Amino acid sequence: MPQTQQNAPRVRTRFPPSPTGALHLGGARTALFNWLFARHHGGDFIFRLEDTDRERSKDEHVDSIIQAMEWLGLDWDEGPHYQSRRFDRYRQAIDQMVARGRAYWCHCPPERLQGVREKALAQGGKPMYDGCCRDLGPGPAPGAVVRFRGPREGHTGWKDLVKGPISFDNAELDDLVILRSDGSPTYHLAVVVDDVDMAITHVIRGDDHVSNTPRQILLYQALDSPIPQFGHVPMILGGDKTKLSKRHGATAVIAYKDMGYLPEAMLNALARLGWSHGDQEVFSRQELIDHFGLEAVGKGAAVFDPDKLLHLNAHWIQHSPPQRLAAALPPFLAARGVERFDEATLLAAIPHLVPRTKTLLELAEWAEPYLVDEVVMEPQAAAKFLTAAQAPVLERVAAMVERLGVAESAALEAGFKDLAGDLGIKLGGVAQPVRVALTGRTASPGIFEVMVILGQARTLARLGRALKMATSAG
Ligand code: GLU
Repeated sequence: MPQTQQNAPRVRTRFPPSPTGALHLGGARTALFNWLFARHHGGDFIFRLEDTDRERSKDEHVDSIIQAMEWLGLDWDEGPHYQSRRFDRYRQAIDQMVARGRAYWCHCPPERLQGVREKALAQGGKPMYDGCCRDLGPGPAPGAVVRFRGPREGHTGWKDLVKGPISFDNAELDDLVILRSDGSPTYHLAVVVDDVDMAITHVIRGDDHVSNTPRQILLYQALDSPIPQFGHVPMILGGDKTKLSKRHGATAVIAYKDMGYLPEAMLNALARLGWSHGDQEVFSRQELIDHFGLEAVGKGAAVFDPDKLLHLNAHWIQHSPPQRLAAALPPFLAARGVERFDEATLLAAIPHLVPRTKTLLELAEWAEPYLVDEVVMEPQAAAKFLTAAQAPVLERVAAMVERLGVAESAALEAGFKDLAGDLGIKLGGVAQPVRVALTGRTASPGIFEVMVILGQARTLARLGRALKMATSAG
């Protein structure tokens, strides 16, 4: 249920990826948590592209991130905003901070900074800026940077919505650069100005950002702006407890689309990376929205388990309406060369196929025999079951289907049993050649279900073709 506290500002979260690569599982989980938090509280979710790194930011990455967000159904209420279009605004904020004495120009050349760092390290300290230009007050100059004038004493802390109270000693935070010598703003400055301008109330992000937060809180204060609440989510590891990487399987979210995963399963799996609701494993989108909260995000690292994702995918495939699956299937069928097919046949087949299906790739594979005019015979299956010895079985089953049709499964089953008895073989000895004749394979749903899906005419045509193959096989 959306819960908006009275008098509390409208909840506004954001997802601000840097478009330097595809949307990975970790980023998608961050996006999802922000989206769920906003939706749960009836607030807004803002999408922003942090594309200030002009060398590494690429349009193709923007497109692929958007595609992944759309696939997951993480719709945004505002944006995408582009930081690259807001440089004037950052410059204005920097100038304002300089004018108020909250920031200062620094002319220290790189060699001097290097020397300061080395000296500090040699003395066992942190490689921090020594504040040389802090009180000298030089004005702007080509090649100069602007630094934030941080407090030297005291602490900066916050009550993290995931990790609890966190505090940093201000003496540990040096005067960070907010404007680079090439005139571009740094990440800290841009992110804070954006979050202020976009009235962000909750910043939910990976815990690799914890050490950035005190610096950013100081910038909010310097801009006389309200400080949002922060929630830092533990990182995602692979099964071997090391940082999630390609070694653990595909890391780009969109790769899972191509591997036949449903976004329902992906959302479900991503939500369970660090968040829980009792011991419930399967959540619909609405259930996630209803139950999501940061208080139920664990403090320890989450482990991505591809088997669990596959299991959830099987669940969602089995619980999706046939129409929903049929709509997602064409690219997977096209990849198998099945471009044109009868949609009604596909819809009729799907309920029989899903119990044995874990991905849309598999579903397309199972569906193929029902959709093609001429079934592709697996060579081994044909060699084993379409032989002269089996020809009488195929012949008599064809006669039976001719007489009974395909709708009366009970009558057909009785006929199969009689036939097996007559020929002195097991029921499987009748069913298997028929299965290969109808699907080209040795595994399929129940043989009478297959006949119903195919209908009488196609069943007879396939039995006829198989009979020819069997007779000529010798
Ligand atoms: N662009 C930053 C990133 O990709 C966003 C950091 C933040 O959420 O403040 O990590």
